[in-house]
Amino acid sequence: MENILDYTQEELLTWMKENGESAFRAKQVISWIYKEIWNFEEMKNIPKSLKDKLSNNFYFGIPKVEEEYISKVDGTKKLLLAFNDGNLIETVIMKYKHGNSICVSTQVGCRMGCKFCASTLGGRIRNLTAGEIISQILVAQKITGERISNIVLMGSGEPLDNFDNVMKFLEIVNADYGLNIGQRHITLSTCGIVPKMYELADKGLSITLAISLHAFNDEKRKEIMPIANKYSIKEILDACNYYIEKTKRRITFEYSLVKDVNDGSEDAKALGKLLKGMLCHVNLIPVNEVKENSFKRSSEKTIQNFENILKNTGVEVTVRREMGSDINAACGQLRRSYIKENDIKLV
Ligand code: SAH
Repeated sequence: MENILDYTQEELLTWMKENGESAFRAKQVISWIYKEIWNFEEMKNIPKSLKDKLSNNFYFGIPKVEEEYISKVDGTKKLLLAFNDGNLIETVIMKYKHGNSICVSTQVGCRMGCKFCASTLGGRIRNLTAGEIISQILVAQKITGERISNIVLMGSGEPLDNFDNVMKFLEIVNADYGLNIGQRHITLSTCGIVPKMYELADKGLSITLAISLHAFNDEKRKEIMPIANKYSIKEILDACNYYIEKTKRRITFEYSLVKDVNDGSEDAKALGKLLKGMLCHVNLIPVNEVKENSFKRSSEKTIQNFENILKNTGVEVTVRREMGSDINAACGQLRRSYIKENDIKLV
């Protein structure tokens, strides 16, 4: 049995042909799926014989909503979703004036090992398929009754460590027959897997690339991000410049501010010097404290100071407005606490 959400329209068309059906049936079936009909029985224009055939070959990989939290502060919704195999992932829906944004997970867990991040604590369990990433958006739209117009790949997992599935996800999400969400409304965040950044650039998509930088030099970066042992900041910036050249898109640099680790005036100055002149934008994220580690949030004053110094060097900067602070909305925290409370073993 296969998850029908993993199929592009073209792939389903091939399946129809191979199974002696007319090509136009693929379009019909796909259009039902994106109209939130997730069983073959209700697909009115599909003949019984084909419905039976489809049911014998496909299932709808729609995860079960295990828990739903709504922030009293800003209406942010966090969903804990369970797939058929029992694996749990988190998805966050944020309401903005310009529309609804979703933060999707791309893997169950993560193997990048960033020191401040909760998603990586149990390692990577498995990749999510394209359909499993899409299903997070389908469930979110169903629950809210509203369209999702922006996507950030910033949930649990490293998207470039699951490259092919993420590329397929981007194709389906962008397609007219799929969710029809424009590439410019999609941001992919990576800790900086350099060869994959080049591969992404060569796809010529107009999605925004966000880089988790978190430090101005390799020495400091290595202390908090193991991936820094593999790729240097210089290599990352070269890949960013290639991405800019290919796509003409502005890069976002994420910089999580951690008290006494990377939040000093000198850090801000050096970061400004490093990025000056580049088509980019820095997003400062006051670190979300995770109980499994000792990283602390910088004070408001320090955050302000960092922002001002960076601004004065001529680099564009914003502080990420915290959403859902009352509902464990930081990466991986919810899944972890749920697994602990319910005594579920990470396999
Ligand atoms: N693996 C990808 C995307 C997932 S995390 C990446 O590394 O970019 C999305 C962003 O949140 C990253 O910048 C990540 O470093 C940051 N992040 C993770 N845990 C955090 C925490 N506890 N506080 C603040 N930012 C955090």
